[in-house]
Amino acid sequence: MVNSSIFRKLKSFFLLVFTGLFISLSPNNISSKWGFAGHQRINEFAVYLLPAELQSTFIQHLYYLISQSVAPDQRRYAVEGEAARHYIDLDHYYTPGQDPFWNLAQNWQEAVDCHSADTLQAYGIVPWHVVRMKYRLQKAFEEKNLALLLKYAAEIGHYIADAHVPLHTTENYNGQLTNQYGIHGLWESRLIELQAENYNYWIGKATYLPSVQKAIWAAVKASHLALDSVLQFEKIVTKQIGTNEKFAYEQRGTVLTRVYSRKFCDAYHKSLNGMVERRLRAAILMVSSVWYTAWVDAGQPDLSNLKLMQEKESLGLESDSLPKMHARWKQRNCH
Ligand SMILES: [Zn+2]
Repeated sequence: MVNSSIFRKLKSFFLLVFTGLFISLSPNNISSKWGFAGHQRINEFAVYLLPAELQSTFIQHLYYLISQSVAPDQRRYAVEGEAARHYIDLDHYYTPGQDPFWNLAQNWQEAVDCHSADTLQAYGIVPWHVVRMKYRLQKAFEEKNLALLLKYAAEIGHYIADAHVPLHTTENYNGQLTNQYGIHGLWESRLIELQAENYNYWIGKATYLPSVQKAIWAAVKASHLALDSVLQFEKIVTKQIGTNEKFAYEQRGTVLTRVYSRKFCDAYHKSLNGMVERRLRAAILMVSSVWYTAWVDAGQPDLSNLKLMQEKESLGLESDSLPKMHARWKQRNCH
């Protein structure tokens, strides 16, 4: 369990960090995928679940782990092959009534042998990519390469988080096949924006995963099982609220933006009966557990003598805010 005084200190520290993040992110950016806010929150709280030996290094690089949680989305359309790492269209592999996984091997090579690499790429590879990233992270731990291990840790956090979103497991990822266009942002951005402060983040602690492959496929399966509810309740609540009250306008910076109304979001969130919170909590626990597992599998290397400057130089961070944050953290930690 996370010691409560440490948790309070971390929370204060995070408020400082997050204030900085909001200044540096343009409002236009805070609306895509799990939502930037969701990804940032997942990586942040995953750090709090780590055991002390690993947490002490990760907490020093909290700003980086939070800010880079969205890097894979930022390069999604710029890097060839990136987009497929964020989802898996399971419905391509089965017909209604069949087990979605009957024809889908968890092992990459077996899946390639069965469907071809091109097909897998075309319909998304998130669970296989998480396994690949885990080995990269483990290797970076083995080599004590701070820049790389932080990069992989931040980014595997993103992919694991995406695998926990029901709409990342279907071809109908934005409701475009069922006349529910926009539901993707509703579920993973708008609801998070309105509700995430109220969630319970006492999640326990990271645990060793004997098989990251099994764990990520279990996560994908749970996401896919929740998909029907995500779609069905949106339709039911739309009927109850009416299309006139479903949307509202909110000022975002200088722009008046059409959004799902508060009334509609509250009703939809309630109808999902805690689903968003459960998926968010499960994502946090798994991110932390995968970080921990990679570190254990690397032989639990001592990271305490790796220097902050090494990170700054190799990552080419532009701002000088990182050392300032470290100074603040140090100051708080000594009280
Ligand atoms: Zn993504």
